[in-house]
Amino acid sequence: MISLFLIVLVFLGVTIDRMFTNFHYSEMRNNYYEMTAHFVTMASSKELAAEQSLDAFADFSEVSMFFISSQGEVTAHSGSHDPTDHSFIREKDVEQIFSGQSVSFTHTDPDGNRYLVTGMAIPREDSKGVSDSALYVLASTQHADESIASIRRLLILSGFGAFLLALGFVWIAAQVLSRPLLQMQRATRKIAAGNLQTRLPIRSNDEIGSLAGAINDLAKDLQRYQDTRQEFFANISHELRTPITYLEGYAKVVKEKLYTSEEEKDKYLDIIQEEAVRLQRLVNDLFELAKMEEGKISLTLEWIDLTEIVRSAVRKMEWRVKEKGLKLLANYDSNAPLIQGDGLRMEQIIINMLDNAVRYTESGKITITLRSDHKQVKVTIEDTGIGIPEEEIPYLFERFYRVEKSRSRQHGGTGLGLAIAKKLIDLQGGEIRVSSTVGVGTRFDICFPVRESMGEDHDEKD
Ligand code: ADP
Repeated sequence: MISLFLIVLVFLGVTIDRMFTNFHYSEMRNNYYEMTAHFVTMASSKELAAEQSLDAFADFSEVSMFFISSQGEVTAHSGSHDPTDHSFIREKDVEQIFSGQSVSFTHTDPDGNRYLVTGMAIPREDSKGVSDSALYVLASTQHADESIASIRRLLILSGFGAFLLALGFVWIAAQVLSRPLLQMQRATRKIAAGNLQTRLPIRSNDEIGSLAGAINDLAKDLQRYQDTRQEFFANISHELRTPITYLEGYAKVVKEKLYTSEEEKDKYLDIIQEEAVRLQRLVNDLFELAKMEEGKISLTLEWIDLTEIVRSAVRKMEWRVKEKGLKLLANYDSNAPLIQGDGLRMEQIIINMLDNAVRYTESGKITITLRSDHKQVKVTIEDTGIGIPEEEIPYLFERFYRVEKSRSRQHGGTGLGLAIAKKLIDLQGGEIRVSSTVGVGTRFDICFPVRESMGEDHDEKD
């Protein structure tokens, strides 16, 4: 900015100086031309009074006069200029003057003084315009040079003032613009180096302020990501350690024959089998979740009939419901429109929800309902189980989240089921909602949108 300003300032200064100097000299040239023309008229007159007043005028106007012959020799002189200095008389000028044209130029004498020289031929009244003498008028440029120099000083001074002003302006601009940007650069470097607590102060409501806000949000997100990753790994190792401890302990008991009866041995072997199944489930769930997080899961999206899928899931779960002495009621909407989704994944979601309902319900019934309108297809799974405390509901879909850790384990849960279900529902454009009352029951609503073209497809199917 300063360089740009300096270039503009110098360019402007030189232009003003040139304009002013040229104007001054052209004014001076015009004035002395008129004066010389006036002197020439007086000189061409035969009257004595005119000749006398010519000297007086020249003296008064502070100019020197040199009369020359057509050969270029000085015939008369008046004024303060050194009479022996004839350096300003040039042959080609003399020719030009006697051919009827005047000359005007600046001349520097041997002492270094500058003069404006105007030369003009003196016409003779009796010789029909042919002249045999000419007049040179020498006017010192000292006054003009002095006034130009003072203007130049003024220009330099004001240029310097403007430069200082620009310097101040640039400094303020640097404070307002560059400093926050440099601060942001430092902060982002710190964040990149892992210092995720770094935050930037938001001082303004403009673009700079919103950029600082965005950097803060980025740091917060990274922090949250790091925390959840750490928590995730801590959870995994914890989840793996528990079944492995059981496996190791009971296998040792069986191996070292620390049981008293065959029944006791079978009980220990059952535990070993249960724990192995749980471990397998956990590993499968983790693998599934990891694939989803990396975006590597591939869904086969096609037009599916959710009623059929719910029917199939209910069939698969019936034995488990009966086994636990519960009732399973299913209400279908046979006119439900087709939706776009992955059939197998959809069944996995419904089975998972029914499985949870069975697991967390000790007595009563489980109801599954499918309703639809022109906008959406909704599957509701309701149970009369233990329920979920209200304050726990927001965290229900987080990985490894369990309402009651020991009870979930006792029910064989991994804490990943709902997290997986929610991700799968999201991937298929659906939504899951939960409402629950402790001791009364829990209700999950899963909704999928119906798109325009689906209705047409359904008609075709019918
Ligand atoms: P888990 O494998 O432990 O069941 P989920 O992710 O499926 O894990 O569920 C998370 C937690 O939500 C469970 O530990 C349980 O406490 C609670 N939960 C889920 N479904 C129900 C339900 N139908 N009734 C009561 N609690 C439930």
